[in-house]
Amino acid sequence: MKKKVDIAGIKFNAVRYEDVLTAMEVFIKGNEKHMIVTPNPEMIVYSQKDEAFKKVLNSATLAVPDGIGILWAAHYLNLPKAENRFIGILKVIGSLFQVLFKMKAIYKVLPARVTGTDLLFRIVNESQKNGWRIYLLGAAPGIAGIAIERLSKKYPKAIFAGSFAGTPAETHEDELCERINLAEPDILFVAYGHPNQEEWIHRNLHKLTTTKVAIGVGGAIDFAAGKAKRAPQIFRSFGLEWFWRLITQPRRIKRIWNATFVFVSLIFRLKRSKNS
Ligand code: UDP
Repeated sequence: MKKKVDIAGIKFNAVRYEDVLTAMEVFIKGNEKHMIVTPNPEMIVYSQKDEAFKKVLNSATLAVPDGIGILWAAHYLNLPKAENRFIGILKVIGSLFQVLFKMKAIYKVLPARVTGTDLLFRIVNESQKNGWRIYLLGAAPGIAGIAIERLSKKYPKAIFAGSFAGTPAETHEDELCERINLAEPDILFVAYGHPNQEEWIHRNLHKLTTTKVAIGVGGAIDFAAGKAKRAPQIFRSFGLEWFWRLITQPRRIKRIWNATFVFVSLIFRLKRSKNS
């Protein structure tokens, strides 16, 4: 795989969707098991206080940048050093404007945003060609079933091996592994939110007999089921999906605060400490 980019201790792969799909083909044909993680700014902030979670993220075969904020951080950390704090702040503001106007510079270090939700759709689409068997684990009871119904309409040749809500509790995991093994999937999507989904995969992937690739996808099953509405294209193209979530799901305010202001200030401090 292409070069890794370190953002606050998390190592990202500089990949696009097509690279992930190509890698999946190799993974599924091979004998090893692979975890794919989709870290977003909120997960980076969280991982600063949880060293074990950081290790789990870094143990993945692929870590893809879920969100424009990650691309911004890779770009900003790569800029030449600022002479002083004031110039540093100006550079942060300038680079944030570059994000807003989707300027090329933002895509130089990490070439593309690769979100868990889009990855789910693209993998299901690709599976029609390859016959990959897919299992959806997590989301509230009944939601993954609705997601499968909707996905099957859109991608009629996709094969869904099964779905189950379950819980990320360690006491349930043997039963969940047994269920998944009976369904014999190649690919497992896990939607328990972070850090649960990544930790679940880390603990259990070796027990899954047929699964070659497991991916933590957060709210992707909710989106696929139509339970949560994705931001309109205009918000997405300006990197303002977080703002859409703020207006449509105000209860997420603390999480959005972490993903925006706390994340930007963490990256700013990191850059300052690197420069000194
Ligand atoms: N979830 C779950 N069991 C849990 C905790 C969370 O099934 O114990 C599901 C939840 O229903 C949702 C997903 O995990 O489908 C996490 O969604 P969220 O929007 O928090 O993900 P993110 O914003 O991190 O992508």
